[in-house]
Amino acid sequence: MPAAQFDYIAPTSVDEAVAALVEGGRDTRVMAGGTDLIVKIRHRMLFPKCIVNLKRIAGLDAITADKKNGLTIGATALLADVAAHKGIRRHYPTVAEAAGATANVQIRNMGTVVGNLCNASPSADNAPTLMAMAATVDIAGPRGIRSMPLDQFFQGPGITALKTGEIVTAIRVPPPVAGSGTAYHSLSQRGKLDCSAVGVGTMVVLKGDHCTNARIIVGACAPVPMRTQAAEKMLIGKQITDTLVRRAAQKASEETSPITDVRASAPYRWKMVSVLTIRALTDARKMALRRQ
Ligand SMILES: Cc1cc2nc3c(=O)[nH]c(=O)nc-3n(C[C@H](O)[C@H](O)[C@H](O)COP(=O)(O)OP(=O)(O)OC[C@H]3O[C@@H](n4cnc5c(N)ncnc54)[C@H](O)[C@@H]3O)c2cc1C
Repeated sequence: MPAAQFDYIAPTSVDEAVAALVEGGRDTRVMAGGTDLIVKIRHRMLFPKCIVNLKRIAGLDAITADKKNGLTIGATALLADVAAHKGIRRHYPTVAEAAGATANVQIRNMGTVVGNLCNASPSADNAPTLMAMAATVDIAGPRGIRSMPLDQFFQGPGITALKTGEIVTAIRVPPPVAGSGTAYHSLSQRGKLDCSAVGVGTMVVLKGDHCTNARIIVGACAPVPMRTQAAEKMLIGKQITDTLVRRAAQKASEETSPITDVRASAPYRWKMVSVLTIRALTDARKMALRRQ
């Protein structure tokens, strides 16, 4: 089979990248690590006429992580760098864990957290944790800069809220609230390397054992990573007990609409949403109690 042919541009500024995307229109694709994009081109799932590689744009790989100003992960920051970053591991440990749980070492050394989100796979391993932590995306485009909650970014499998000419420049996570805890649990057939059959990211905020806020996000069980708001409501304003955690986990499972595919059957996924939600809420609660 002949190799795919396309033009290749490596701009050195965001403005230049946006201009190239506007000029090329829908046939032009952004590339960060290329670990999703190039696979799709090789498998004849995408036929771009031009690729705009972001990796030569200075500063786009920046990561800043502290307790006061929050976390910022630039568009070309590698999964491996996020997983190993001292500030992230200290103040946003679940973000580091989710990046470290994505794929294998080779992919993590090429692929990016932002690329993982922009690929908009329902099973993207970094989405549940970041959505649970109320992350926002910075978007640059022909009309300037805008920001949107990550909750609203995913529109369907492989579809984001990005318009023609737009790129994500960074993802931002607000500073951790006192008494907050987070966790991510996932499972896949081979444990590592393959995409998750189910992933659950949680955040709880506690005052004593009283829950003042909760977010539960389930990946790979709906067309997009989804918030299970009925389950969240069951926790907010209550004392978190093991029984309540089990009931909320069951509710979270009922809110999802998984399909049967090569990774898992729908009934198995429903069951595992409940199991992983119990684990993720239990771990988030432990972290929240430590952080009070
Ligand atoms: C063997 C293998 C194993 C994998 N395992 C996992 C896994 O366990 N979990 C998991 O979640 N994923 C997995 N993946 C998928 C992939 O590696 C990740 O999604 C990775 O994080 C993608 O990052 P990237 O920088 O390579 O994205 P790219 O391939 O460069 O881009 C992905 C998509 O996002 C778009 N894009 C990238 N950056 C931007 C931007 N800044 N603005 C706008 N659009 C952008 C591209 O146009 C493309 O459509 C695996 C892939 C392979 C090949």
